[in-house]
Amino acid sequence: MAQDVIPTPDPKAVRFARGALERIRRRRVREFEAMVATGFTRTCPVCGYVGEFAPVGEPPRLDGLCPLCRSRERHRLFKLWIDRRGGIGKEMSVLHFAPEPMFEPILRGLAGTYVTADFMRRKVDRKLNIEALELEDASFDLIVAHQILEHVDHHKALAECFRCLRPGGRLVVTTPVIEAWATTYVNPAITTPRERMLHFGQKDHSRYFGRDLKDHMRAAGFELYEFVSVEPDVSTYSLMRGETLYELTKPAAPNPKTRKG
Ligand SMILES: [Zn+2]
Repeated sequence: MAQDVIPTPDPKAVRFARGALERIRRRRVREFEAMVATGFTRTCPVCGYVGEFAPVGEPPRLDGLCPLCRSRERHRLFKLWIDRRGGIGKEMSVLHFAPEPMFEPILRGLAGTYVTADFMRRKVDRKLNIEALELEDASFDLIVAHQILEHVDHHKALAECFRCLRPGGRLVVTTPVIEAWATTYVNPAITTPRERMLHFGQKDHSRYFGRDLKDHMRAAGFELYEFVSVEPDVSTYSLMRGETLYELTKPAAPNPKTRKG
């Protein structure tokens, strides 16, 4: 059988190769950095940071993350909603599900009463199941529930939030929606975390909403306003184009003095 013939390289050539290896590695790292650093200056409406943002997610969304307060796109959209449409005052009581840490001081400062809630997390004021709220009817003016509906029976959750809001009160929701889908995708055959990842995009999601979500919101009794990310906000604050925050209002009770008949 023939023997492999491995030559002995010149030590000078080996030293050159080691230097080349370092140069190639450094060049590749620079290329990767250039790929994830856009060099754009963005403003964070949550914390006021102005400068470059960081990539976030898998695969990474460039400029998705504020490096100071760690807000993502939907958090910055929510802060713009608070500033422009929130109208949160000291006379109001606010219930915040799965509270994002950067909003606790902001909402606590604005509202008269601020209650945090979660079904799983411990460091909240109330342990609450959004499908069956242990709360009085008409007890809150604003309920915030970002990235919740896709985990639960959203019909039950919408009905419960409606019940617990005062007339004129609002529920604020963000959730993944495929606008091009007419109907929401639910599939009782999908049960394992891995199948849920494949079908619903995350291992603990139970549905993927189509645009009929808006019909479901109206069917629960709400009036719907869509707060959509548009330019120049998208480029200034690094938002996802077209991301929508759903503002659902429980209609105010008709004033008996103005009612006819
Ligand atoms: Zn920030």
